[in-house]
Amino acid sequence: MTSLRFTASGQINKPLPSALVKALPAIKDAVTNLQSLARKINEGKKNEEPTNTVVWGSESDHISFALDLAIPMPLSQALQDKIPSIRTKIRQLKDYAVNTGEAAFSAKYHVCYHGEGGNHPPCNPEEI
Ligand SMILES: [Zn+2]
Repeated sequence: MTSLRFTASGQINKPLPSALVKALPAIKDAVTNLQSLARKINEGKKNEEPTNTVVWGSESDHISFALDLAIPMPLSQALQDKIPSIRTKIRQLKDYAVNTGEAAFSAKYHVCYHGEGGNHPPCNPEEI
């Protein structure tokens, strides 16, 4: 299955600024929207991997999250139109984490040919 794959994980152990606290519901909504479109990668084949994972944990003073989403391609035009704003929202979290020196933070995406076989390009994740 060719898919657009989003992976991100991170933990912020410092009090979140109010701007980020306010932005958090929209960020979660964007991720939930993606999750509704995601499928297990390599579904129905050997070596199936359990993507379509979203984990959030948040208290008033910290947040941790992990997501691994594979959205089957081709993407609808409606979704393509939304991707930039979803990317911007995820990036808000990332920018804050990087600026506060949280080391264990990652947010990437790539076109994934997992399980396709043949001479497909290798996975080459780009930073969100
Ligand atoms: Zn991949």
